[in-house]
Amino acid sequence: MKIETLHNLFLKSTGVCTDTRKITKGCLFIALKGANFNGNVFAQEALNQGAYKVLIDDEKEHKNTGETILCKNTLTELQRLASYHRTYLDLPIIALTGSNGKTTTKELINSVLKQKYKTTATVGNLNNHIGVPLTLLSMTKETEMGIVEMGANHLREIANLCEIAKPNYGYITNFGKAHLEGFGSIEGVVKGKSEMYAYLIENKQHVFLNADDPLQNKILSTYIKKYGFSQVDKNYYKIKFIKADPFVKLKIEDTDVETQLIGAYNFSNISAAAIIGKYFNVSLWDIKYAIENYKPTNNRSQIIIKNNNEITLDAYNANPSSMEAALKTFSSNKLTSNNTSEKRKVAILGDMFELGSEAKKEHQHIADLAAELAIDKIILVGENFSTIKNESKKIIIFSSFQKLLEAFSSLGVKEASVLIKGSRGMALERVLDLL
Ligand code: ATP
Ligand code: MG
Repeated sequence: MKIETLHNLFLKSTGVCTDTRKITKGCLFIALKGANFNGNVFAQEALNQGAYKVLIDDEKEHKNTGETILCKNTLTELQRLASYHRTYLDLPIIALTGSNGKTTTKELINSVLKQKYKTTATVGNLNNHIGVPLTLLSMTKETEMGIVEMGANHLREIANLCEIAKPNYGYITNFGKAHLEGFGSIEGVVKGKSEMYAYLIENKQHVFLNADDPLQNKILSTYIKKYGFSQVDKNYYKIKFIKADPFVKLKIEDTDVETQLIGAYNFSNISAAAIIGKYFNVSLWDIKYAIENYKPTNNRSQIIIKNNNEITLDAYNANPSSMEAALKTFSSNKLTSNNTSEKRKVAILGDMFELGSEAKKEHQHIADLAAELAIDKIILVGENFSTIKNESKKIIIFSSFQKLLEAFSSLGVKEASVLIKGSRGMALERVLDLL
């Protein structure tokens, strides 16, 4: 089918759906295949539930009623459709990638730009080869600015996502030790994330650079040399970090900003949102309002008070860089409660996934670091942490969540300041029920 024809069908629909549990009446259902599912078999169900048309790539499900559209590969069609739609809308798009802080920075940028523009941003963490097209397809003629999070766990992924989304602006949060399995090494991570710079510079678009990061400066200058592109627009605010105890406070020019974000590492995320806001002419007053009112959800660095425990819940995800940042912040935090007696600090850490051959080394490093920091008790959970050599009396290791569960009441975690952090698959938010 010609892409123009498919796009016309899309415009006549109420939007794209890929999950029969979330069908909206009149949608264009695109039947995707995954490792454990085949959307094609739900084609009829989608129609029964009110889908307008169904795009499939399995002949067996094809009916000559005009309701099913057969193509070679539904995923490729979804991406082509998204890319076509993006060109059709012709709106400015800001893309974000990096090892840590993408979602937080995306949410902050969205909060800031929303003060002045009608924005459409990635919902949650839909940042991959399916999520990016779905984000683009959620944009409409009313959208004035798009904000797209791009995640990657191997090379060429960011390049492909940029080809689809064709961003006009891009920001890389940082280069850290995430997804080492797919990238091979930290050099691989840098190369992979930098594909965004390459795309933007080759296409004469704009880079928002975190100039405080020497590594980013260096990489960008190699691209600038290579492509003979030299315009550096120094458009910034003077932003000063004040403290993180635990909420980050900062000063933008002479304006105090008190955020609801925990962890000094959020300073660069907040600064990026402020500078991007300035670039797009959002007033400092509105920037302050947007940042101060942004409250993280989904287990991303939330503070929860429960049974006199002061819990920093950061169980959304973890990798060596974010784990290190979280531990350092936690150990240096003063307590938020008015309680003057110091609370004991307990870190409950779950395995970090997708580290490939680096897994043992990185888990050992985190355990050693935690033991050195001002933390009273360190509870490690998971198969990876079970492989480390432990010489610290502060550390207790459980090979699974189940084992932790069985022993938890004997650990004496009461009236403590508790950090909870681990990879998504560990679902360490379950610890909350035990506290
Ligand atoms: P994902 O790869 O899961 O999409 P992400 O890059 O979107 O992650 P966030 O969800 O914003 O990142 O944050 C996840 C965690 O990363 C935070 O809870 C925090 O521990 C850590 N983090 C956030 N920002 C930074 C930063 N600038 N530097 C280091 N660590 C960070
Ligand atoms: Mg994310």
